[in-house]
Amino acid sequence: MQKLLIRVRRHLLPPQLRWPLRFLLPAMLVLLFIAVLVWLPWQAREMESNERQEQLIADTLWVEQSLRFEFNRSEEALVGLGSELVSQPVATATVQLRLAQLINNGHELRRIRWLDANDAVLAERGADPAGPTGAATLPTVSRNAWDYARATRKGRYSEPYKGAAGGPAVVDFYAPLYRGGHYAGSLVATYDLKTLLDETVPWWFAQDNAISLIDRDDRLLARRVAAGPGRGVYTHKRALDLPGTSMTLSTDSVKGPPRLLPNLLVGSVIVLGLGLLASLAALWRHIARRLLAEGALRQQMAFRTAMENSLVTGLRARDLEGRVTYVNPAFCQIVGLPREELVGKAPPMAYWAPEAMAEYQQRFAAVLAGNVTPQFETIFQRSDGVRIPVLIFEAPLVDSDGRQTGWMGSILDISERKNAEELARQQQEKLNASARLATMGEISSMLAHELNQPLAAISSYTTGALNLLQRATDQHTGVDAALLKPALEQASTQARRAGQIIRSVHEFVKKREPQRQVVRMHTLVEGIATLIEMQASKHFVSIHNDIPASLPAVSADRMLLEQVLLNLTRNGIEAMQDVAPERRVLKITGAVEAGQVVVSVIDQGHGIAPEVAERLFSSFFSTKAEGMGMGLSICRTAIEFHGGTLTHCDNPGGGTRFRFALSAQG
Ligand code: ADP
Repeated sequence: MQKLLIRVRRHLLPPQLRWPLRFLLPAMLVLLFIAVLVWLPWQAREMESNERQEQLIADTLWVEQSLRFEFNRSEEALVGLGSELVSQPVATATVQLRLAQLINNGHELRRIRWLDANDAVLAERGADPAGPTGAATLPTVSRNAWDYARATRKGRYSEPYKGAAGGPAVVDFYAPLYRGGHYAGSLVATYDLKTLLDETVPWWFAQDNAISLIDRDDRLLARRVAAGPGRGVYTHKRALDLPGTSMTLSTDSVKGPPRLLPNLLVGSVIVLGLGLLASLAALWRHIARRLLAEGALRQQMAFRTAMENSLVTGLRARDLEGRVTYVNPAFCQIVGLPREELVGKAPPMAYWAPEAMAEYQQRFAAVLAGNVTPQFETIFQRSDGVRIPVLIFEAPLVDSDGRQTGWMGSILDISERKNAEELARQQQEKLNASARLATMGEISSMLAHELNQPLAAISSYTTGALNLLQRATDQHTGVDAALLKPALEQASTQARRAGQIIRSVHEFVKKREPQRQVVRMHTLVEGIATLIEMQASKHFVSIHNDIPASLPAVSADRMLLEQVLLNLTRNGIEAMQDVAPERRVLKITGAVEAGQVVVSVIDQGHGIAPEVAERLFSSFFSTKAEGMGMGLSICRTAIEFHGGTLTHCDNPGGGTRFRFALSAQG
């Protein structure tokens, strides 16, 4: 239901209204709560006030009943006594006794008189608080009641009245007596209203209320005030109707209006309410902060997602069991599989190429053991079967508590790089081949020149040997082996040398893939010494090979290094063609520096001018008339291919030093 509401709101409400609405409802609820909080004590006060008023009414009614009961009781007693008095003659002492009993039973009865038909007092008990006795002295109100009572033959009360001396208010009751239908006198009882109130109203009621009796003209007749005057807040008036008269019973509570925070209940409700408001405010603040943080988080998430989606690097997270927990779109693209087919899967993975399974298993076992290879190259098999060379970087995945939860890998598709590398390698190969051919052009001319020498020597030695043989034949003597042997040996040596020259040239021009092997610089230089000599002898340069045999080996392609050295020596030799013959010395030295084997080719030639130095390694840059300008460029490529460096500097004794450094093996 709530979801539905949210959806409806989302669809029906314009976005600018959604935000206020979200806050309008709680704000209204809080306002309502405050209103209830204010209304509650007021309502409680009202209720308490009503309750007190109702209580007062009930109590007043009860007092009125009590008063009425009191009047009725003494009325009946009087009427009973009256009928006794007229029915038979009674001794005066007995009458007195009976009257005294009546007065004792009800203290409010102040005086009881027995009058005969002519209103003469036959018996009397008590004193009139309002004045002297006798019918003649009766106040008018009393006289009227008397007359009326006689006329109606029923007992009757007079209007309340006060005596001349300002005594207490009293009320008379006249009970006419008849004997055989004739008026035979009357009983007159005088009630003191103040005493009536004091005697009849219970103390607990008097404690809380001021009680008054008021006559028809609102004059106060009697009052009982036990705990001070009433406050006029809770009042009630009730008519006290008696035959012949009517008074008003008025009660006025001494209690004030209920206070606004009168009791613990309302107080605790308010405290709780305020506490609730405070916690609401705290909650509100918390929510606001949370919303802010959520917003920031959402933004960060959006940023992160955009970043992950835009990455060309594949990302893959794995838990400690090797199960894939996350992949980004780039990873899916690299392996050609949808996210669902990758996440949650444990090895062997769908993108593992069958031929590299052993390697994967081995690496996965290492991952489980907790030691990953931080960076390695491998191949993945795409879903269409195509092999993708990838470069993988692995790093531990650590949660906010610093605990490792898995591994994060970034995967680079290096097919293009591999292709480029392959292309570069092929081009390099071609270049090397052409450079070799170029060098070959030069070498072949030297070769012809060089081979001439041994061939001429062979020719002359063999001619000499033939001559010796001829001479021996002509003279019929035996061949002098001592003479023949050195000639043939020389011829053989020269033939070997010629063969070596040809072999080394053949080796040099042979096209082949680079092959790494353990190469000792000492033997390498020895292997090409003949070729270097050939270059050197052309320009009358002497070669000093100072490479120590103890120099550590390097892992390199022998042919490439040979070519580098041949180029460097050729350049050195050529740089010295115009210097004095005694300076034409080319040194080849070897040393170990910082774990690297450093080979230097040092000449004492014309040196390198700064403008030449700038372009030294550029392809096709040459200062020579017939130079190709490829030598140094090829040398640098070859050395860098081996992870080494090729540099040059001025030779302190004049000329130039070229040096290359390669990692020493072991
Ligand atoms: P090439 O030898 O065909 O000119 P290189 O690339 O081998 O091509 O050399 C480029 C240029 O560098 C040379 O023409 C030459 O001017 C300069 N150079 C190379 N080696 C030396 C050296 N040892 N001394 C002086 N100049 C050199």
